[in-house]
Amino acid sequence: VEVAERIAAGEVVERPVSVVKELVENALDAGAHEIRVEVRGGGLKLLRVTDDGYGIPEDELERVCLRHTTSKLARFEDLSRLQTLGFRGEALASIAAVAEVHLLSRTIETERAGLIEPALGITVRGGEIVERGRRARVHGTTVTVRDLFYNVPARLKFMRGARTENGHILQLLRRYAMGYPAVRFHLQLDEHIALQTSGSGELALTLAELYQLPLAEMLHPVHVSDGQHYTVSGYVGNRALAQANRQFITLFVNGRWVQTRALLDALEKGYRGSLSKGKHPLISLFLTVPPDEVDVNVHPAKTEVHLQYEESILAALTRAVRGVLEKSPAL
Ligand code: ADP
Ligand code: MG
Repeated sequence: VEVAERIAAGEVVERPVSVVKELVENALDAGAHEIRVEVRGGGLKLLRVTDDGYGIPEDELERVCLRHTTSKLARFEDLSRLQTLGFRGEALASIAAVAEVHLLSRTIETERAGLIEPALGITVRGGEIVERGRRARVHGTTVTVRDLFYNVPARLKFMRGARTENGHILQLLRRYAMGYPAVRFHLQLDEHIALQTSGSGELALTLAELYQLPLAEMLHPVHVSDGQHYTVSGYVGNRALAQANRQFITLFVNGRWVQTRALLDALEKGYRGSLSKGKHPLISLFLTVPPDEVDVNVHPAKTEVHLQYEESILAALTRAVRGVLEKSPAL
């Protein structure tokens, strides 16, 4: 692999969690109802994502592991109204440039047609195809990534321990599970099942599953809108669910997870003095604003947003949380 290619790959594939993000987004784009993620050694040893999506046609398997391949962008203008999560067609190629990737896929069409030939699998290592073979499987795709960064020693040297990487992966999967409650997610970290959702389609149930809450009554529904500039919906947790950090506050703006400090502060403000010092609530909220009233490209990692009507939205978030808490004496 060319050095330049490895550098480019390094930008997409910063660490194990970035690989998981790309593979899970591909599975969601493929219409998966169930997504299983397996992680070994903090993701450097092995990362495997299995989905039951529509699969990759055999004649495209090799192509999707090479540079600039996407089936999701027909015309340049499509960039402005993207429906899918991926569109640059370089994630798989970037991963395959810095790891060993095994891709096994069967399309839903070959299954429906009753074709019994086993599915085709290919192995790519450092950007080169090193193996092809057939194995039985039902429709869907399994991507296995081994020895991540084996050819990028500088990157390996700066990797944190497995615990840190696993923590990032768990947080990421929780967010996808909240964003897609109708999809069943399963995360295995080494021998331990870290997360499992039922794909019920109900956010409250998904949250109870994610946080292993004994009672879903500890969550209170929020739904407010001014009918013009914002709609806020989701759940606000009881004081008893307070945490030592902000990791249990999840906010999406137009479906995108954000960490904008002012927005999180506004949510916490809704609790007034009802949380003890240093404690942070459990919140999972979706803020929807008109697309032309939000700028998501403020931060390269895109977890910051600028809102045109920020002041009134901050006040609305505080009011929304406060309103729910005031109605629930148990809080
Ligand atoms: P992008 O998602 O930007 O198109 P990727 O490199 O992530 O680029 O994927 C390349 C292509 O491989 C996708 O456009 C899609 O056609 C195919 N693909 C990747 N993963 C899957 C999957 N899990 N199921 C079905 N198709 C997939
Ligand atoms: Mg993609």
